[in-house]
Amino acid sequence: MKITRLHSVIAALGVLLPALLGAQQRVDILIRGGTVVDGSGAPRRRADVGVTGDRIAFIGDATASRITAARTIDATGLIVAPGFIDPHTHTQADLSSPERHANLAYLMQGVTTVITNNDGGGSIEIGRTLDGWRKGGIGTNAAVYIGQGSVRGAVLGMSASAPTPAQIDSMRAIVARGMDQGAIGMSTGLYYAPGSYASTDEVIELAKVAAAKGGLYDSHLRDESSYTIGLVGAVNEAIRIGREAHLPIHISHIKALGTDVWGQSDSVIGIVKKARASGVDVTADQYPYTASGTSLGASLLPRWAEAGGRDSLRARAKDPAIRARLVADMEANLKRRNGAHSLLISSTRDTSLLGKRLDEIAQRRNTTPVEAALAIVTAGADPGVASFNMNESDIEKFMKQDFVVTGSDGSDGHPRKYGTFPKLFHEYVEAKHVLTLERAVQRSSAETADILGLKDRGRIGKGAFADVVVFDESTFADRSTYEQPTLLAVGVRYLLVNGTPTIEDGRFVNAFAGRVLTRR
Ligand SMILES: [Zn+2]
Repeated sequence: MKITRLHSVIAALGVLLPALLGAQQRVDILIRGGTVVDGSGAPRRRADVGVTGDRIAFIGDATASRITAARTIDATGLIVAPGFIDPHTHTQADLSSPERHANLAYLMQGVTTVITNNDGGGSIEIGRTLDGWRKGGIGTNAAVYIGQGSVRGAVLGMSASAPTPAQIDSMRAIVARGMDQGAIGMSTGLYYAPGSYASTDEVIELAKVAAAKGGLYDSHLRDESSYTIGLVGAVNEAIRIGREAHLPIHISHIKALGTDVWGQSDSVIGIVKKARASGVDVTADQYPYTASGTSLGASLLPRWAEAGGRDSLRARAKDPAIRARLVADMEANLKRRNGAHSLLISSTRDTSLLGKRLDEIAQRRNTTPVEAALAIVTAGADPGVASFNMNESDIEKFMKQDFVVTGSDGSDGHPRKYGTFPKLFHEYVEAKHVLTLERAVQRSSAETADILGLKDRGRIGKGAFADVVVFDESTFADRSTYEQPTLLAVGVRYLLVNGTPTIEDGRFVNAFAGRVLTRR
């Protein structure tokens, strides 16, 4: 009895004494006076956030808790949120470049973590890529997939043949090595050659290797339109891969591409919900633009015409009988893409083409759009295009789903690389009220971290990594356009990457605090 009482007195003193004596918790950085949207989806609340080292050490009322700080950031009137996580980018080259490794296009959007090697692409030399980033420094955190298209290309080149058992083994070994070297899963782009030459069974064999090593499956669907198996068929294929290979499925840039499939968002949402209810882990990401970004060849050429590579394509285009079939297929594909005015050349060294739409180019050359496109893709490099093919109703329906998160699919020549996250907040939260601020933050941070298996990221929570964005809700906006796709976003006042200030007063301060993230 006595001892118990003594214990309580000591315990009480333990709480009271430090307060009476003015004991303080000291943090490195105190973000003071802001409105915290913590990523969980919970309502915003007024709170101060303390950071020590690379972690969040305090959340609450700093004055009442007698917090002192080496440095204070005034966040009065600003939103304090977890740094955004982008599950789909094309930043491998940027992060590896001595000039572009800051990843500024993303930092200015409040993005602190990017994933790359999506769409089945990127280098298969995962270890070398990640080591290069560790040595050279990177502005954002980054993680990679091992890309199935690249794996198939390394073993079978541009061949459309089925692999031999030995070739399957070789592909499995490359996937295993990539996972062991730090990939978070396997990505596919079954729409693109040479990944497209793989059967579903072939993909399942490789996905099983990623599954055994704790990875997920990231899918640019085989068909987002009506090219081959159709949008619904392609969603079903992705779900089957998840079910049979036993791994989570993440559908990249979910959309209904082209008038043939407009309105099918309802069917796709229904299929995904049913699969989720049956125990398959299916999620998706989305960018808030009506144009997709791809290449002129990828949008119009049938995949059979690309088998064997560019020389084979040129030979086919020269053979009159094959050319007739090629042109007919391209005409059908152009219709799927909503016609020649819907294709805007967005990235090319040829300044006579840049910024022009395909109908205009054809008119100038006094030929048909398909003939003009064929001449361009057989003459040299395949230019990037912005392809206007989505409708707003499908975009908003997908956007409201609880399994859909934000992802830019950022590529050169498309404004989404510089504008996806602020555009979501500016247009779909502030202007159209399609999403609440809390939901927009959640689907751009915590939910994405959970999907990707990124531990202690994506939340404003004690002990979490201090990836923090401080932005002005009223001015946070994209500036990039189809005409000027590389204009940086505005409205992010401060950005911390692993506790290090990277943007201050809206300016990049030459900090390279990003880390390489691996699944394990
Ligand atoms: Zn893609």
